[in-house]
This record gives sequence, structure tokens and C-alpha cells, in this order.
Amino acid sequence: MLTIRELSKTYANGVHALNRVTLDIPRGMFGLLGPNGAGKSSLMRTLATLQEPDSGEAFLEGPSGERIDVLRDKDAVRRQLGYLPQDFGVYPKVSAEDLLEHFAVLKGLTDRRQRRETVEGLLQQVNLWDARKRKLGTYSGGMRQRFGIAQALLGDPRLVIVDEPTAGLDPEERNRFLNLLAEIGENVAVILSTHIVEDVTDLCPTMAIMNRGQVLLTGKPADAIGALQAQVWRKQVTKATLPDYEARHTVLSTRLVGGHPVIHVFSAQRPEEGFEAVAPDLEDVYFQRLRLQAKAA
Ligand code: ADP
Repeated sequence: MLTIRELSKTYANGVHALNRVTLDIPRGMFGLLGPNGAGKSSLMRTLATLQEPDSGEAFLEGPSGERIDVLRDKDAVRRQLGYLPQDFGVYPKVSAEDLLEHFAVLKGLTDRRQRRETVEGLLQQVNLWDARKRKLGTYSGGMRQRFGIAQALLGDPRLVIVDEPTAGLDPEERNRFLNLLAEIGENVAVILSTHIVEDVTDLCPTMAIMNRGQVLLTGKPADAIGALQAQVWRKQVTKATLPDYEARHTVLSTRLVGGHPVIHVFSAQRPEEGFEAVAPDLEDVYFQRLRLQAKAA
């Protein structure tokens, strides 16, 4: 659906935001997971034709199977693209209905009746129909993000890019938002960029982990988790001994449970007495990949 080959980008300040990024993104939900500063937004903006890479290429499959060159054929890409940027701002004094109508005009929906139908359909789909007359300034964070999805879906895009959409949403709003994305992902390619591991676990059949401009892993979450089987160990330690464990073992994560640190350690064998095997999860995969990269650097 979307083929990305060796995309690289160095900003004027010397930051290597993208370092030969290669990815194959199929239809459905694709999770792009990485910490802040990993390069996710740089990649999303490049795919959304908003900035140029230094080198590399990207191709999007068009409606009749044709190959659209993302970097050269920007207008063709934009016709197939819905984008919800990280800093999606709305006009606070305008109603959702009026602003969506306005965006629809900009998208080129010139036929008045058709436009009305589209706007109504989208407001229903993102569950904002009852709130359509309200000013956007009165919307909650989750409602604003759902409005952001409605505008991204204008013009029936084949590729939808959402950049860090769940940051700042409470758990209920987040769930609602992710369910909406999953529904959309049944028909088109949706790239969900996030630093929240659960966003990917709950929702994405395929994913990539990215950090410091590099793709560290790509594939199915279940396969990546399976590959760590019998190599993750848990122990409750004390705060005083924690640095010692960190020096001796590959500590993936530390969580406070009842005030005591519980560590997850990556090791082919039981690291030492007192460690118990745990079933790995995507968070273990994520931290293991980041650790490996840090070690290699
Ligand atoms: P993410 O979305 O994963 O947080 P970004 O793509 O925003 O990552 O940033 C990747 C790196 O590039 C960061 O170190 C960031 O500070 C830097 N960066 C992003 N945009 C610019 C820019 N316009 N100019 C200079 N550096 C930038």
C-alpha cells in the first residue's frame, strides 16, 4: 500500500531526524512507536508532502493500483491523503459543522448537496452529530481529536496519518478515539504515530519501532513478543540495590509496585536467584530494542 525506501533527513541544526528509513505499510492500522524525538513527526510530515527528505523514496498505491511517487507527485498524494497533525488547531469560535463544511469546500467538494451529505455523514461517524452546533472552543480534548479525524476523512482518503493523537486524552476518550481509528482502518491504511505502547498493543496488526531516526523493528506485535519468550525475568528489588542490578543486568524497565521497584531483565537464562520468568509484552519488546540500540551506539 505504502512503500518507503531509505528516507533520510538531516535538519539544518545537524539533527539526523531520519536515517535510511525503510518500511512497508499495508492496509489497516499500522503503529509507529517511538519516544519523543525519534523522528516520527518528521516521517509523517514527509509522507504528508509537507517537507522534503534529503534522499530516499516513497510510493503510495493509488485507487487503480497505480504507483504514486510521494515525493514528486504531491498533488496526487494529497488527493489520497487524510492527515491529523500533532498540533491540530481549531477555530474556537466556530461550530464543528461550519468548520467541517469550510474544510470540505477547501477539499474541493463543490456540489452543495453532496457536501452537506458528506459533512453530516462524517459528523455521525465520529459521534459529534449531537454536538455539531457547539463552538469548537467548548469541546473536550477527545472531541477535538474526533473532529480532527472527521476533517482527515474528507475526500475519502486511502491513507490516513495521525500523529500522536492520544496524548493528553483521558482513558475513556482515548478508548473511544482508538475504536474510531480501528473502524476506519478496516478500509484504508492508517498510520498511527505514538509514544504510548498500549496504543499499538490494543490496535495495530503491524507496527514499527523507531528511535533516533532509525527503524529498530518492524512486523507483527505478536511475533516480536514471541521472539522474547522465556527471556524476560522479573524481580522485586529495593531502591538501594537498584543501581547495582542496572549495572549487572540488562534492565528493561522499572516499575514501582506498592512502593518497591519491580524490574524486568532481559536474559537468555535466569539471571540469578530470586528472578521469576514473565510472559513478555510489547513494552518489553520496545525497551529491549531501545537498549540494543543504545548499546550499539
Ligand atoms: P518525534 O515526532 O518522534 O517526537 P520529530 O520528528 O519531531 O520526532 O523530531 C526528531 C528530531 O528532529 C528531534 O531531535 C527534533 O528535535 C528534531 N527536529 C524536528 N523538527 C525539526 C526542525 N524543523 N528543525 C530542527 N530540528 C528538528
